[in-house]
Amino acid sequence: MKQFISRIDNDVQDKNSLAWKKLCDYIDQLAVSGGEEFSPLEFLGNTIFSQIQTLPASIAKLDKVRKIWLYGSKLKRIPPEIGYMTSLEYFDPYTSYDLHWLPYEITRCKKLISSRISTRALYGNYKHRMGFPSLTKNPVRHDGEILTCSVCHRVISYAETNQLWISLRIGTDVVPLLVNACSISCEEKLPCPPENYVQTPHKGGGSLKQPLNWEEQMVIEIQRRRNENAAPVQQAIQINADANESSKLKTDAMSLKPLKLVVKIWDK
Ligand SMILES: [Zn+2]
Repeated sequence: MKQFISRIDNDVQDKNSLAWKKLCDYIDQLAVSGGEEFSPLEFLGNTIFSQIQTLPASIAKLDKVRKIWLYGSKLKRIPPEIGYMTSLEYFDPYTSYDLHWLPYEITRCKKLISSRISTRALYGNYKHRMGFPSLTKNPVRHDGEILTCSVCHRVISYAETNQLWISLRIGTDVVPLLVNACSISCEEKLPCPPENYVQTPHKGGGSLKQPLNWEEQMVIEIQRRRNENAAPVQQAIQINADANESSKLKTDAMSLKPLKLVVKIWDK
């Protein structure tokens, strides 16, 4: 399976821009008012919101926010400070097609039970299995020179961290998460990914072997059903050639119809 592997963009945001300043002001106001919904598009308007590629670390102050609305954003990343938004129940970055991963720290939002994410844009998603960028050659950098271990929260330097990808269920979706692990012991504490995803934390890159994508799995399933039906069809040939042709066409149609329908519904 040939994979397209993109690169991680660091320094994605112009932090001297008016858009960034307005976003920071909005977050400060929302934190003071104790608002429960974070909806920057409403506050900033379309033009300014489209200049936002990440969120500031100050989202850590939004510990009363229950819902995040980021529909149609141009976001490329969410900072690890989302882990402090402990009231979060719903996360909606739907149609944010540049958002390919989330920080592992979002797993600290224990009330988060529902999400609406354009999963086809996610690294490793079952539909297309978009390749994970290599964290060995192209690590993720956040602001500043220090960071915290995603697992034990210990303050560490970039030289000490081991960055890893892991796919886990977040809300109602399986999402690729970036882990900063300070030790083997913290790496071993990471949970097991769901079935049909790479089963261990990994560094990404071109040599990563992912499970088959949805289309490849479908082709195998169709082939399996055809093989199952091959024997009765062969018998029919001996009885009546015309009847056999009609029977084979019918068999193929029956095999394909439900699968095509499922693809249509799932490939949204
Ligand atoms: Zn640690």
